[in-house]
Amino acid sequence: MNHLIVEFFKSVTIPIVIILTALLLVDSGSVNVSAWQLLIEQAPLLLFSGAIVVALRFRQSRVIYILLFMLLSWALFSEVDGFAHFNFSPSLWFISQLLVLTLFSFDQNKTIWGRHGILRLLILLFIVVLNYRFNHSITLHQWLDYRFIESLPHVKSIGQVELFVSLGCLLAVMFKQITAASKSTLCIWVIMFFLVYYKLFSPDLIVQQLGFAIFGILLIYGVLTDSYKMAFSDELTGLAARRALLQSSLSLGKKYTVAMMDVDHFKKFNDTYGHDVGDQVLRMVAAKINQVKGGGKAYRYGGEEFTVVFPNKSVNYSIPYLEQVRETIANYAMTIRDEDDRPDDNKQGKSNRTKQSASNKTVNVTISIGVAEREGELKDFDQVMKQADEALYRAKQAGRNCLAE
Ligand code: GH3
Ligand code: MG
Ligand code: MG
Repeated sequence: MNHLIVEFFKSVTIPIVIILTALLLVDSGSVNVSAWQLLIEQAPLLLFSGAIVVALRFRQSRVIYILLFMLLSWALFSEVDGFAHFNFSPSLWFISQLLVLTLFSFDQNKTIWGRHGILRLLILLFIVVLNYRFNHSITLHQWLDYRFIESLPHVKSIGQVELFVSLGCLLAVMFKQITAASKSTLCIWVIMFFLVYYKLFSPDLIVQQLGFAIFGILLIYGVLTDSYKMAFSDELTGLAARRALLQSSLSLGKKYTVAMMDVDHFKKFNDTYGHDVGDQVLRMVAAKINQVKGGGKAYRYGGEEFTVVFPNKSVNYSIPYLEQVRETIANYAMTIRDEDDRPDDNKQGKSNRTKQSASNKTVNVTISIGVAEREGELKDFDQVMKQADEALYRAKQAGRNCLAE
């Protein structure tokens, strides 16, 4: 868990430092953006609309709801014609923004239209109505001014209620990112961070507008990166997928080595222990292959077949690293449930899995490897792959759990 948290902070630090530097430079007047004023004022509208189109195209509905809400936020904040008279309570709207971002970061990307979509739009509408209804409510402001800790004074421009909501929401989205990572969630966290930053330090109007434009860019980046990843990485193992292999084969130089790997007797394994355990084995094997050293890049070619490419490397150079992977897998004792223990009923199976069945046993999985290098007449990536495949066949013939050239 600890290393996941460290990982999380590593990944948000770079964007935050870059954006913060840009905003601080503008805020301090070191960079004069007055010539860009008009553009910066309008940029959020363009970028948010663009982001909505991109999110629609890639069916990332949760981002669409966030974008709609942020667009409204921007319109209210910039007092765009027709929005100026709303006069929402800044505190309540601040809290609403954080809650909407948090809520939708946990949402699934279901259909935009239909019951699911209407419900979400209603939630957004409800929040707007709530803000409209309570913008001058004295009771509400008493609540928002509530002090949990009497001795702690209000931190600059942020009340204790806002502060605790901020911390809670930032923690919740961080938790979401740690358990199910995606670039959009990461971007949502960064946006929330900056909303809190604005609240704390209330920078110039132009700086906040610039910030909104950056939010638009972040969300476009998030949607595109997630969609790219979906298309180019393998769902089960998280390795790069065959499509990524074919793509990167186009940019390989004159010299490279390709290894084809195949799990030995995997069909028998599936038949004995079931498909779920089979998948578990594939994940383990993929994780080990992904740790290949020597500059090799791992892909899931399909089924129980994997490919490792060593750009600019010869067969002789690559073999020790491949052997290392093969041995690591062969020596790894994987714990699985016993066949006799496996209930037919799928539901019961699930609960047993979490309970850790008493009769766990360990198995050893092995892989066979075939390698080929681009050389002489072998000019095409396809040809090199074919030769690696033939070498793999020879490795299987030679008794499996070995490597052949
Ligand atoms: P060999 O040592 O000759 O490679 O024997 P094998 O049984 O591994 O060979 P074969 O290629 O005939 O079997 C591959 C099996 O892999 C068939 C299929 O049941 C299983 N398989 C393919 N993809 C998946 C997957 O995504 N999950 C699971 N659980 N099994 C898969
Ligand atoms: Mg096979
Ligand atoms: Mg096999």
